[in-house]
Amino acid sequence: MDKTMEKVISAQHVAKHFHTQAGSLELFSNINLDIHQGESVAIVGPSGTGKSTLLSLLAGLDQPSSGSVLLKNTDLNKLDDKSRAEFRNRYISFVFQAFHLLPDLTALQNVMLPLQIRNHAQAEQEATNWLQKVGLGKRLGHKPSELSGGEQQRVAIARSFATQPALLFADEPTGNLDEHTGEQIINQLFGLNQEQHTTLVLITHDSALAKRCQRALRLHNGVLEEIS
Ligand code: ADP
Ligand code: MG
Repeated sequence: MDKTMEKVISAQHVAKHFHTQAGSLELFSNINLDIHQGESVAIVGPSGTGKSTLLSLLAGLDQPSSGSVLLKNTDLNKLDDKSRAEFRNRYISFVFQAFHLLPDLTALQNVMLPLQIRNHAQAEQEATNWLQKVGLGKRLGHKPSELSGGEQQRVAIARSFATQPALLFADEPTGNLDEHTGEQIINQLFGLNQEQHTTLVLITHDSALAKRCQRALRLHNGVLEEIS
């Protein structure tokens, strides 16, 4: 790892608990983590330990119960809504476990949307290229309901890649894909990482994907430990 690279994610004493009908649920009370630009980091661990919650906190999509998360030295929770949205548009992409595609838009329109928000001059061409790269060149006009789960996942991945973000967060990006398609997606993820220094933070149960990352962190019983 090149330690001279900019620190892009810094979690300090991060705690998260939920108040539920059954009482308070504490997922973790003191997570500390620094990630530098261009690093690739896998987060692994058993189901229900709080990996998805932690990823949302690291991406600034959710607020910690206490502690802080800085992205590029900025605490998103201290920005107003407009500045926070601008920061996200500029630097961050997130591939959710439930893909969050817009149901009334086609695959092509879903991928074009973030490009149009950024006033990309060739949004349609760029979106088409990325859909072709994930093997969906023949599904451009399909709506999410007309695509399989794995295809929807690839649309979500194309959408996250298209903006060439500085920080890419993905929650089990190969979870619904067959081995061959998963391998292609992994190659594209690491292509972005190598060519554009995209920082990757990925939750995964896929050991092939975890192994390709420079660092692997395991979340278990509220503790995040470096396992490689
Ligand atoms: P993982 O991704 O490791 O499977 P999650 O972060 O999705 O785990 O969830 C961790 C635990 O927190 C689960 O038991 C889940 O039910 C609980 N949880 C997640 N979000 C909420 C919420 N908004 N309110 C209450 N409990 C939640
Ligand atoms: Mg999860």
